[in-house]
Amino acid sequence: MLRQFQTVIDDVQNPLERKRASMLIYLVFAQTILSVGLFVLVGIIVRDYSGPHFAPILIVISGVTLLLIWKGKYRIARVIDLIALNVLLLFLSQRLGSQSGVNYYYVATAASSLALYGYEEWRTGLVIATLSLVLFIVDGTIDMDFIPQRYLSSSQAGFLFMVNSTMTFVISAYCIVMMHKLNYESEKGLLETQKLVEMQIAELKKTNSELDRFVYSASHDLRAPLSSISGLITIMQQEKGANNPLYISLMKDRVKAMDEFIREIVDYSRNARLEPEMKKFRLHELIDEIVNSLTYFENADKVSIEVHVSEDLDLYSDKERLRIVLNNLMTNSIKYADFSKERPFIQVTASRSAQAVLLEVKDNGIGITDAHTARVFEMFYRATERSKGSGLGLYIAKEVVEKLGGKLAMHSEVNVGSCFSIELPAFRAV
Ligand code: ADP
Repeated sequence: MLRQFQTVIDDVQNPLERKRASMLIYLVFAQTILSVGLFVLVGIIVRDYSGPHFAPILIVISGVTLLLIWKGKYRIARVIDLIALNVLLLFLSQRLGSQSGVNYYYVATAASSLALYGYEEWRTGLVIATLSLVLFIVDGTIDMDFIPQRYLSSSQAGFLFMVNSTMTFVISAYCIVMMHKLNYESEKGLLETQKLVEMQIAELKKTNSELDRFVYSASHDLRAPLSSISGLITIMQQEKGANNPLYISLMKDRVKAMDEFIREIVDYSRNARLEPEMKKFRLHELIDEIVNSLTYFENADKVSIEVHVSEDLDLYSDKERLRIVLNNLMTNSIKYADFSKERPFIQVTASRSAQAVLLEVKDNGIGITDAHTARVFEMFYRATERSKGSGLGLYIAKEVVEKLGGKLAMHSEVNVGSCFSIELPAFRAV
């Protein structure tokens, strides 16, 4: 039952407010049990059911409060309950006399008011707590003749006093503990928010320094081919050898490098900006397309490409993004192939388990020295003099794989070869 009530307040937005609403539910349940107990107890001890009975009224108040909470009117329930309780206490205390200890409950209602209204509403909490104090004073000073006092023997009064003072203590202690708990939780929440903000700041700093590096390297990488081309044009003009094939081929190389660089920047920006387009496709077909497109890649004819991928392996991923990654890894394997070896090769393999699809691009190229392995996935990082590229390829590949929910890892040994493995989630793999 308590659980069901808890679900009613689940949509209270503010978490501290939700905790206070939950506290109200506990208090009203305690109040209901207490009112039934009090009614039975007074009946058993005093054996007198004549005269006005306030305990059943308390049961009604609890019922109305619970009903209001159930209807989602937690704020109205809170104020009605506290005010009704205070007023009722006055009558109950007049009926049973102060020797019964019923008037102690003013302390409990004051503590509940302060606990149920958080710091944001402390004035309302204080007003209701003051109402308890005022009624306590009125109760102690004014004799309300219209309420017949029930006679209690000293042992009956003693017993009721003990029960009521104990209950007052328990309720007040509960309220204080709850206030501490709320305080602790809000502090914990603040710490968590602080941690989150710190993480976001660290992320922003990283992005900022990446951006700085990007602007610096991009301007360098874009200007370098242009100045080479411009230099070559000047030489050609001076030498009057406008058709010199060497110069033209050098210019072509530079234009190609620039074109490659711009394509990489576009790949990077597309990956960062757009959401992946997940579709089912046949992995083998994608790899065939990439292998075919490599035919005209420099030195591709000197490297043997072996594909060990089952023809019926379907993937559910972003095909174009995966094309960028595989294309990058395979062209790297050609660019950094070791032509002193008898048979330079690239092996592409794929396997699927229940959770993941594992793709591997392995070569027997020049490999990467340990000093560089940790950094090759960084932006603009080149690990060898042989690189004519921008050092963006592996950085983009890693970003793309992560966008696809996977992981890109590498194992490399200098002069032996490198193996890049892509682990993609197999969700909706068919
Ligand atoms: P780029 O090829 O443009 O230099 P990448 O980001 O693709 O940039 O690669 C970063 C560096 O990692 C390269 O400069 C190269 O030294 C090294 N590398 C990448 N792939 C391989 C590979 N298959 N074999 C050996 N070295 C590699």
